[in-house]
Amino acid sequence: MKKISIYRPTSIEEAIQVLSLHGTEAGVYAGGTDLLIRLKNRLKQAPTYLVDIKKINNLRYIKEDAQGGVQIGALTKIAELAESELLAKKYPMLVEAVRMISSPELRNASTLGGDILQEVWCQYLRGGYACWRNGGYICYGAIGDNSYYHSAMGGRLCYAVYPGDAATALIPYDAKVKLATPFGMKELTVEQLVPGDMMVDGRIQSHVVRFNEILTEVVIPPPKPGLRASFEKLRPRGVWDFAMASLAITLQLRDKTIEDARVVFGGISGKPLRETAVENFLKGKTLSTDLGNQAVPVALTNAAPLKYNATKIDMAKGLLVSGLVRLNAAA
Ligand code: SF4
Repeated sequence: MKKISIYRPTSIEEAIQVLSLHGTEAGVYAGGTDLLIRLKNRLKQAPTYLVDIKKINNLRYIKEDAQGGVQIGALTKIAELAESELLAKKYPMLVEAVRMISSPELRNASTLGGDILQEVWCQYLRGGYACWRNGGYICYGAIGDNSYYHSAMGGRLCYAVYPGDAATALIPYDAKVKLATPFGMKELTVEQLVPGDMMVDGRIQSHVVRFNEILTEVVIPPPKPGLRASFEKLRPRGVWDFAMASLAITLQLRDKTIEDARVVFGGISGKPLRETAVENFLKGKTLSTDLGNQAVPVALTNAAPLKYNATKIDMAKGLLVSGLVRLNAAA
C-alpha cells in the first residue's frame, strides 16, 4: 500500500483547513471500505494525506426534524440505516435499498456519505490501468469487457456506472445534502450531488464535491400521504455485488390515480438515472397490473449500450414492469 499520513481533526473547520492545505493530495477518510482499497490498489487519484473525520462529533445520527422529515449524519453506518425504525416507518424503500448494499460486515463499516461518494468499481481502474480516471488518456471500459461495471446509457470520458444504491433510493424522496465548505454550508439535491462523470479540481469523479468540501448531512423531506415506493436490484450474487440494474420508484397516489411519480434507475449509467419520460407518462394514469408493460416503450429510449452490456437495458425495463406490479399489489 502506498505511504500515507493521517490527520485526526476534531471539528469540521479543522478538517477543511487540512484539506485546503494539501489540495487534491488529501482525502476524507470515514468508513474506509472504498478508500483503503483505492490505496491498496495504488490508484493515482488515491490521497496521500487522509483526513480521518471519525473523531468529529455530531456526524452520526438519524433524527426527525421539526417538519416531520429526517436528518441523517453523513457518518451514520449503512447498518444503522438498515435497522432504523424511524426510517422504516417513514421511508421504507430507502431501508429496502440499503439492506441490499454489499455484505453485513461492510454495512457495519461503511457510511452513508461514503456510499454516496464512492469511487467507481470499474475493473480496469481498480486493476491499476492508466485510464482517464487514473491519469491516462483512454477508457479501457469502453473498448474492453464492459458487461458489468459500465454504462449502457453512454458516457463522456469515463463509461463506468455509478455504483451507489443509497443515492438512487434517496432521489425519489427529493432528498438534499449539506456540504461544509471553506465559505460555509452549501445545500444541493442528491441529483445535483451525483451528476455523473465530470472534471472537478482536475480529476474525473461522479460527484461535485470539491477537494476541500465535506458531505455532512442528508435531509429527507416529510413523506407525503399516499406515497408508495419500491426498490429492486438485480445482481449476479445475493450479497456483495453491485447492481447490474436497479430501480427506485415512488408514486403519489389518490386512490389508484397517479398524481406524481419518480423513476430512478441505478447500475446502468454514470449517475442515478432519473427517467422523466416515464414519470411524465405515468402522471394521471390509473395504476394497474399492465401499466408497466405500457410504460416500457417510453423508457430508456436514448440507451447506448456498449458491446457487452445491452442486457442491462433489458433488466432495467424488466424492473420497471415488476416495480409497478409490486406497487399495484400494495395499493
Ligand atoms: S470506465 Fe472509467 S474507470 Fe473504467 S477504464 Fe474507462 S475511464 Fe477508467
